[in-house]
Amino acid sequence: MPAKKNVILELSRLQKEVLELPSPALQVRKIVDSVSSVVGTDVCTLYLEDNNHDMVLMASHGLVQTGPVSIPAGKGLVGLVASSRHPINIARASEHPSFYYVEGTAEERFRSFCGIPLVRYGKVIGVLVVQRREALALSAESEGFLVTLSSQLAHLVADMPVTMHGAHLNTYTRGVRGSAGIGIGLGILCDHGDLYSVPDEPCADIESAIADWHRLLQQVQLEIRQEQHNLGELLSESVSSIFSTYSSLLADQALIQKVELEIRNGNWLPGALRKSMQYFADMFLAMEDPYLRARHEDIHHLGNKLFTTFQGSNSLVQNVDEVDHVVLIGDEVSISDIAAVPSDKLVGLICFSGSSLSHTAVLANALGIPAVMGVGQLKNLRNRERFIVDGNSGQIVRWPNEMLCSEFQRLIDEERLLLSKLSSLKDEPALTPDGFEVRMFTNSGLLADLSPGLKYGAQGIGLYRTEIPFLVRDSFPSEDEQQLVYSQVFTAYAGKPVYMRTLDIGGDKQLPYFPITNEANPALGWRGIRFTLDNIQLLMTQVRAMLRAAGEDGDLHILLPMISSTEELDTFNQLLTEALEQLHGESIAVKRPKVGAMIEVPAAISQLQFWQDRIDFVSIGSNDLSQYLLALDRNNSRVASRYDLLHPAVIHELDRVMKLARKYRLPISLCGEMAADPFAVILLLGMGISTLSMSATRLVRIKYLIRHIPQEKAHQVLQQCLQLDKVQDIRKLLHQTLVDYGLQELI
Ligand code: PEP
Ligand code: MG
Repeated sequence: MPAKKNVILELSRLQKEVLELPSPALQVRKIVDSVSSVVGTDVCTLYLEDNNHDMVLMASHGLVQTGPVSIPAGKGLVGLVASSRHPINIARASEHPSFYYVEGTAEERFRSFCGIPLVRYGKVIGVLVVQRREALALSAESEGFLVTLSSQLAHLVADMPVTMHGAHLNTYTRGVRGSAGIGIGLGILCDHGDLYSVPDEPCADIESAIADWHRLLQQVQLEIRQEQHNLGELLSESVSSIFSTYSSLLADQALIQKVELEIRNGNWLPGALRKSMQYFADMFLAMEDPYLRARHEDIHHLGNKLFTTFQGSNSLVQNVDEVDHVVLIGDEVSISDIAAVPSDKLVGLICFSGSSLSHTAVLANALGIPAVMGVGQLKNLRNRERFIVDGNSGQIVRWPNEMLCSEFQRLIDEERLLLSKLSSLKDEPALTPDGFEVRMFTNSGLLADLSPGLKYGAQGIGLYRTEIPFLVRDSFPSEDEQQLVYSQVFTAYAGKPVYMRTLDIGGDKQLPYFPITNEANPALGWRGIRFTLDNIQLLMTQVRAMLRAAGEDGDLHILLPMISSTEELDTFNQLLTEALEQLHGESIAVKRPKVGAMIEVPAAISQLQFWQDRIDFVSIGSNDLSQYLLALDRNNSRVASRYDLLHPAVIHELDRVMKLARKYRLPISLCGEMAADPFAVILLLGMGISTLSMSATRLVRIKYLIRHIPQEKAHQVLQQCLQLDKVQDIRKLLHQTLVDYGLQELI
């Protein structure tokens, strides 16, 4: 047994060794062998729970195993450890009332038993058992070691396939929602070549290496143009401009000549490329200007792209060739990866890292591809493993069996059917049976999602997330560039209200060219209006661009994110006045827009009483408001199951905001995820919300609900919910309400 101070060392050594092994079978073998030798026991066995809650023996050091072994749910000491969720450490196992003999393991030779539950995110996923011939319980120190080990082990083994009789079982992994919808397909890895681990090698033929370099440049230029073209039809100009950055970097003589020089110095092409790309990346990294500094990432990406093409392994393209339904998987799935797959084949995205608002999620939303982000590193992945991507719940299923696939396929089919059935409601009003009308707006952020909003009958844009055009570029867009993008929004929504939000970056939304680093709590830091008021030149440029784009006819409403104080509002209003004066002075026809505060920071609620003369309306950002009320990070998969928008505290606060807004005669809307959630909409209807804004594909579904539930009934249900203190009870009541009105298909 290792000395106390070595426990951590022992654990990290074991973890490292296990992770280096190529298959789950070898990994579990290693775990049981190592534990047995470290703790000094005759047996160490790892059981993992399968879908039926049976405990499947994954590997054992010491037990005889002639065939598959599993202990029925709740049976034996293993079952007791799992259900009691605490270690059981006894000298004479066979005398314990729960003892259950595991057939065919020659277990009778071992008298002592110590079982430790493996717990992940509050759920028991398996049990680690050590046994000895001697009738002697484990020392407290060894038991402590196993408890510590097991807490680490649970994360290590959580994604392993629990196999019985060789059949893969459904393994769920939770991430965060990236983009709604369900996709079933074969996983294709976005495995980018790693130029930066390439060694130096002597160059055999300098002239031909230089010729290869020029050919490579041409080939990658062509690829980039093709990718840009593929996506150009789907996405806005600003998105595809990322490709232009790559193109101009490739045409840069400094880069071309630097690689040539390295080859002439005797290095082979990959070595010369690595040295040159590293040289330029370091050069940018050393710059003071944050925009230029961030360019080093572009160079890094480009280096890997050149190397992948050099290796001739445009593996992604080859791999998707014979696959009909592709799920792209990677640490980060890049725009190039998405562009490389024909859009009719791409059914889902899985990212190891990233949040619901990361770049990839934003694109997935715009393209309507289900996506789950932040699932963590999936171990031992191979191309063409089957996956279910459930973007609605933010989960993926690895190794789904046929039954589960057909269950999810049924959901996909039902969803399609429902959408086509409801699409006839597009031009109908969202009017309750007792005559209460709700305006149905859409959330947008890419030019590509302007048309779906109109297709599904949006009466306006309730939230235009302007950061998206900023996120997909390589530097801040100029006033003219912004104006061009915003003008297209006003043209598409001529005569309809457009709520444009000022730049809401910071927190989890980072601009590649203006990273905000070194913040211990980014969600509480330099984000939203706090950032733009401190970078007033950016805000002025943006407001001018909005005003110019709206002109005299556009129905512009400016939304301010993360507002928490009167001073922020006053500073903004003053800036707006100045912008209007400047533009009038430049003889540009503009008019004063309406200004609204987003209710996202709880502090804003009690400030509303002071704001009625400062703002024209409020819009509830329920995603952030819930995050800050509950002190739960909306992008942290560990606490995702606790982040429930129907938490009683959220409902009470929303009810309070609605009442205050009414008291101070401030029109109020809601533009967070709640607006698209049938349960939440019953409550919002009960509160008397008159404008909801949601993603385009949810519009007709929510309208259908509103057209079936009387507002008075919704109000009664709200009153009942306000008396409940548990989310489950609230959900139960809302579920029953939908069932009572025959609306269960909306859930
Ligand atoms: C919100 O917080 O509810 C909201 C709509 O803003 P975002 O999701 O962009 O933070
Ligand atoms: Mg927000």
